[in-house]
Amino acid sequence: MSSTPSRFWKTPGEARQYDTFANTDFARIYPVIANQILDRTGITEGACLDIGSGPGSLAIALATLSALKVTALDSSPEMYDLAQKNIRKRGMEEQVVPVIGDVHAIPAPDTTFHLVVSRGSYHFWNDLPVAFSEVFRVLKPGGIAYIGGGYGSGKIRDEVLAHRKERGIVDDPAHPMRNRFRKFRAGEIEASIEAAGISDYRIINDDTGFWIVIRKSCYDRRE
Ligand code: SAM
Repeated sequence: MSSTPSRFWKTPGEARQYDTFANTDFARIYPVIANQILDRTGITEGACLDIGSGPGSLAIALATLSALKVTALDSSPEMYDLAQKNIRKRGMEEQVVPVIGDVHAIPAPDTTFHLVVSRGSYHFWNDLPVAFSEVFRVLKPGGIAYIGGGYGSGKIRDEVLAHRKERGIVDDPAHPMRNRFRKFRAGEIEASIEAAGISDYRIINDDTGFWIVIRKSCYDRRE
């Protein structure tokens, strides 16, 4: 499978539209998810990487609710510009730094991050084993990755989606987002994680969403 990222946002207008949703309809989900990440991982300071960070909403929420310094990585130049705008608007340039880059070749040295997070992006990754091995490579020994998707709770998801529907907000029919969400075969995600040489992981599939939690042992010194 190719590891070249496809052009995710079909038009700059589509990227701006996502930024508007993230700052309005979806805005309430990010602090909820950020608090779940901080509680479940126990990592509240150090270096954090948010992969497929889009306009930076989760990265900003994590940096607001903790002492983490967050690198917001996205392969889309449109999202880089939107993340930069959102970070500047909140005066958070010291805590959140946007970077253009691809999960299949993360532009960071080995063992850089205490925490790696990602929401709503893994469905679009072309090669999951390569992506997971890159995530593992950039984690520090003792670090944790929290990757998946969700709205924080089923109640929030239902309210957010119902509100959008009420207001007649639908995907661009020419490029519906749902068609770009990859469906996975049963066991495919687990097999991809294990193909990346990762054995210490668990999957949370509950009201908060679908989340893969990967731990890198304190004793992991692999090159
Ligand atoms: N995480 C954000 C959020 O929860 O609002 C944005 C989610 S958006 C649905 C998915 C993001 O993943 C897009 O901004 C897209 O550009 C990014 N993305 C897709 N493939 C990627 C890749 N191979 N490497 C890095 N980012 C990628």
